[in-house]
Amino acid sequence: MIFVPLWQLLINENMLSKASSKGLHDFLGFNGKIVLSTVMPDEFIDKLRLEDYFRLIRDLRPDATMIPDNYTYTDDPLFLSWSQTIRLVSFAKDFLKLNIPVIGLVKGANLLQMDWAIKKQVEMGYVSFAMPARELFEEGGLGYFLPYALKILKNSSIYFELLVYGVGRKQKYKGISYSNLSWFIEAKHGNYFKNGFPYPLNDPEIRFDECNCKACNGLMPQELLDLWIDGKEACMKILIVHNLLDLSK
Ligand SMILES: [Zn+2]
Repeated sequence: MIFVPLWQLLINENMLSKASSKGLHDFLGFNGKIVLSTVMPDEFIDKLRLEDYFRLIRDLRPDATMIPDNYTYTDDPLFLSWSQTIRLVSFAKDFLKLNIPVIGLVKGANLLQMDWAIKKQVEMGYVSFAMPARELFEEGGLGYFLPYALKILKNSSIYFELLVYGVGRKQKYKGISYSNLSWFIEAKHGNYFKNGFPYPLNDPEIRFDECNCKACNGLMPQELLDLWIDGKEACMKILIVHNLLDLSK
């Protein structure tokens, strides 16, 4: 299963139009489950309306999607974070109309907002949740919010799953990798990611390392290189997903 961040497609018109016409599975050449991640920078959050989300989801054809992200900052005036929280819950209701599984979001500028947002989503029937945790983690607030979110979910007496989203990402490479589609672009150039760094496929450093990710299935970069020589397309499909998986580790 991979998470494809919607906003990374939104910043690249050419890629978005290709992905929209082919659907994400064909576009990435990936047969596993694809979850559309709506966690995105603030400037995108305000741009997308419900009909935009629905159109994008219809065209991209992911297997599941998160409900639209919002922004809630602990230092914002309360009415702002409340209006964002209400927006989140309202989107959650609208997203029930989709015919794919939908993952709820655990968000809130304070415990009361988080509590309310979770309970509303549980009432609507949501059982899978993602908690965008990167900012919380960086600010040191994750230890405060996470146990609370878990407690609310446990008390709701549903069988739930909670995914803490975005912490595993390698912060130090943030600027050069995840945020600018390098996983995709480097793959186009035949470069292979290992621990967040791109290498040419024939680089002795990585050349004979078997990779057991879902894309490589035990292949070594050397074997990918052979594929590349036979015809770029097949190799690139593996490389794109391998790179994305490496950066998502
Ligand atoms: Zn791999």
